[in-house]
Amino acid sequence: MNRISPGATIGILGNGQLGRMLCLAAARLGYRTHVLGPEADSPAEQVAAASTVAAYDDLGALAAFSSTVDVATFEFENVPLAAVAYLAAHTQVRPSWRALEVCQDRTQEKRFFASIDAATAPWQPVNSIGELETALKKVKPPAVLKTARLGYDGKGQAKLLTAADAQAAWQGLTGSKPLKPNGIFAVLESFVDFRCEISVIAARGQDGQVVCFEPSENVHANHMLATSTVPARIEAATAAAATDIATRAAEALDLVGLLAVEMFVTSNGELLCNEMAPRPHNSGHWSQDACGTDQFEQLVRAVAGLPLLDPRRHADVVMRNIVGPEVNEIGHFLSDPAAHVHLYGKTDARPGRKMGHVNILRPKTG
Ligand code: AMP
Repeated sequence: MNRISPGATIGILGNGQLGRMLCLAAARLGYRTHVLGPEADSPAEQVAAASTVAAYDDLGALAAFSSTVDVATFEFENVPLAAVAYLAAHTQVRPSWRALEVCQDRTQEKRFFASIDAATAPWQPVNSIGELETALKKVKPPAVLKTARLGYDGKGQAKLLTAADAQAAWQGLTGSKPLKPNGIFAVLESFVDFRCEISVIAARGQDGQVVCFEPSENVHANHMLATSTVPARIEAATAAAATDIATRAAEALDLVGLLAVEMFVTSNGELLCNEMAPRPHNSGHWSQDACGTDQFEQLVRAVAGLPLLDPRRHADVVMRNIVGPEVNEIGHFLSDPAAHVHLYGKTDARPGRKMGHVNILRPKTG
């Protein structure tokens, strides 16, 4: 175990709301935080002990940053791999850049799921309109075309109802930009007629111990997470299978930190893995108020070499995201003792921007 003591500094690449909540959890356990990211007056900068405002590929800034931290992690999955690898040459980074590499590319992610015997929707790699037309013969529409890298919250995705939509979908994703010759640009996957979507957040410590939060049932609106509800309306056997997948994934990646695995539950109860993220996840925010420990504290414990806690749940909970101008209409939550409001310190309530979330607790039923 490589334990760091309270008073030591945890470096965080990325300075959004996940970083903010990670800083708060670290502070509670006596650690300092130093955040690095491109945005000034960011959600994380407002609460961190130290902040560097710099581009992720600013090697000078990364070197200076690394000399001030005892261990580093990341809260943003699309942080350039080269930045994390550079940092890893100067300080300890957890999780490793190898876990990040798999999660940054949908083709690697899907192959990884196959390697641990976790099912995904049928899919094909696609690098040209010709390949898309061929892929549509194997992955029958309706289907979803997704960029292999850098997609989030539904960006970089197009739905194809029939093969005739191929040209428009390809055009929509690529624009008129020429593709880079190396790497896979997109994946075509079957559209899943799912009963519900769930996710499991696994925490894995330096000693290899894995503890998982219960599966949450996730509902999306406008391609963005709207609510996470726990307990999820799934059978105990499905919950156990989902937890087992997240555990196997964290172990196979030899990950120290958090791994969020998103899955579809099909009408016959089958689990199909969609994607995963080696960081705190929006669908785990419910743990902040419904459990004895939350995802942020577990990550701090993992990177600092402290024991992980049993993340037992003491209440039923619905986590609701507060998006854009909704932040101006939260008065009823602020006067409800069952509603735990978390705001991210963002001033510009642009439509579609995550401004905060609220965890609404109810007595535990299951
Ligand atoms: P993703 O960026 O892959 O997480 O996709 C965002 C959301 O789009 C998912 O949470 C689903 O609600 C929906 N979605 C993505 N892929 C599929 C699929 N193959 N079938 C049905 N819905 C999907």
